[in-house]
Amino acid sequence: KVADIKLKDPKPVASKPKQKINVDAELAKKNSKPNLSFIVIGHVDSGKSTMIGRLLYDLGIVDSKTLHKLTKESDAIGKSSFSLAWIMDQTQEERARGVTVDICQTQIETDAAKFTIIDSPGHKDYVPQMINGVSQADLALMIIDANSFESGFSNQGQTKEHLTIAKNLGIERCVVAVNKMDVAQWSQTVYDSICTQIEQFLVEELEFERDNLIFLPSSGFLGDNVVSKSKNLPWYKGPTLMGVLEQENREMSHPVDKSSPFIMVISDIQDSSKTDELLVSGRVNSGVIQPGQSVSISPSQEVAVVDSISITTSNVGSSATKHNLQKIAQAGEFVELKLKKLASTENIKVGDVATLSSNVLQPVKKFKCEVRLFNIDRPLLVGTPFVLFKNGISVPSRLSEIESIINKDGKAKKRRHLSSNNRAVVVVELLERELPLVTYAQDHKLGRIVLRKDGLSIGAGKILQLVKFWPDRL
Ligand code: GDP
Repeated sequence: KVADIKLKDPKPVASKPKQKINVDAELAKKNSKPNLSFIVIGHVDSGKSTMIGRLLYDLGIVDSKTLHKLTKESDAIGKSSFSLAWIMDQTQEERARGVTVDICQTQIETDAAKFTIIDSPGHKDYVPQMINGVSQADLALMIIDANSFESGFSNQGQTKEHLTIAKNLGIERCVVAVNKMDVAQWSQTVYDSICTQIEQFLVEELEFERDNLIFLPSSGFLGDNVVSKSKNLPWYKGPTLMGVLEQENREMSHPVDKSSPFIMVISDIQDSSKTDELLVSGRVNSGVIQPGQSVSISPSQEVAVVDSISITTSNVGSSATKHNLQKIAQAGEFVELKLKKLASTENIKVGDVATLSSNVLQPVKKFKCEVRLFNIDRPLLVGTPFVLFKNGISVPSRLSEIESIINKDGKAKKRRHLSSNNRAVVVVELLERELPLVTYAQDHKLGRIVLRKDGLSIGAGKILQLVKFWPDRL
C-alpha cells in the first residue's frame, strides 16, 4: 500500500539570499582548504574505531585528559584496549556491546585540509548503516587486520562486501591500511602478501583503477604510520596515513559547479520548540545554498526558508561543539540548515530531499535501472520482493519487470529471471512509499541504488529513467 501523502500545489516562493555576498569570493575562500569526506570500512574488530581515535588523539583534537578518562573507564570493565576506540563510540549502548552501531561523523581540520570522517559499523548486521555512510563519502579507507585477514576476506566476512558496495555506490578511490602490524611482527612479507590479494580483488573483480589504490602498513593502537612515521617499519618508504589523506584531499578536490541544482538528502532531523521550525542536516550533494533562499522538501513538497546554515565541528570527548555559521554552503559539505516558515513539520522525514523551490523533485514509485547482481543463492524472478537502499533509508520494493540481460558483448537478451553476476535493465517498484529520485545521468552519486534481500546485499544499480508516480499533476 502506498503511503497516503497529500501533495500540495507548489507556491512560488521568493528565494532571495538574505545577504548580498560575493559568491565567487566565498567559494574561493572555502576551496583554499577543501573538505574531503572519507568512510572507514572493514571487517569487525579490524581496528577502525581505534584508528580514528588514534588519528584524533595524535592530531591533538582529543586531549590527553579525555583519553585518560576513557582509559580509566575501559579499565574498570576489563576492556582497556578499547580506550582509543571509545573516542568515537561515545554512546553507552555502543560501549556495552563493543560494536559501532550507527554511523558517526566527525569534522576535523588540519593546517592543510578539512575532512569529514565517517565511521561505519563493521558487524554484518549493520551493513545498511554502512551503505548510508558510503553514499556520503568521497573516498574509502579500508582497514584490514593483518593477522586475521582470511576471516574478513572470506565470503562471509565484511572486507569484500564493504569494498563491493563502496565501488558500486561510486567510490573510485580507496586507501587500504594493513593494520595491527605490531601483532604481525612488522613483517613486510605478511604485508606484501595481503596487498597482493586485495589489489587483485579490487582491480580484477571490482574494476578499480590500479592508480586509484593506495596501500600502507599501520598500527592504529600504537600509532605507527598514522600521523607519525614508524621506526618499526623501516622497509616502508611511503607517506603516513595522514599524509596520504592530505594528498588525496589535494588531488580529489575541484571547484564546485555553482550553477548545478542544489540538492541535499536529509540524513538527520532535530525538532525545535516552534511548530514552523526544524533543523535538518545532511551532505550537500550538488550546487550551493545561502541563508534566505527557500527550499522545497520532497516528497511532501513542504516549502521552507533557510534561516541559517551551520557546519558543526565536534571537539570529540568534550561537550563543546562549535556551530560555525556559513554565508554559503556548497556540494561536499556536511551542513545543518535551520528551516523556518514551514506550514507543517510532520511530513518531513529522514531520506527526504531538499532542493531549491524553483526546482522541485517529483517523487516516483517506479523506475528503470541497470542492475549488476552480486553472488546470489537463488535466482530473482519478476515479482521477487527485496529492500531498496536509497537516501539513507530502506524501502520494501519488488522486481516489476526484466527488460533485458546485458551480455559481456554488450548485447541485450530477454530473460525471465536474474542470476549471480548478471547485468540487466529492470524496472523496480517501490511498495510502501515513493521517493524523490534522480537518474545516474543527472547525478553520478545520487543516481545509484543498492538492493538487499534476507540481510544480504544482492546487487547495485544505476537509475536510468523515472516513471512518474503523480503523472503530470503539477
Ligand atoms: P573495529 O570493530 O574495527 O572498530 O575495531 P576496534 O577499533 O574496536 O578494535 C578492536 C580490537 O582490536 C580492540 O581490542 C583494539 O584495541 C584492537 N586493536 C585495534 N587496532 C590495533 C592495532 O593496531 N594493534 C593491536 N595489537 N590491536 C589493535
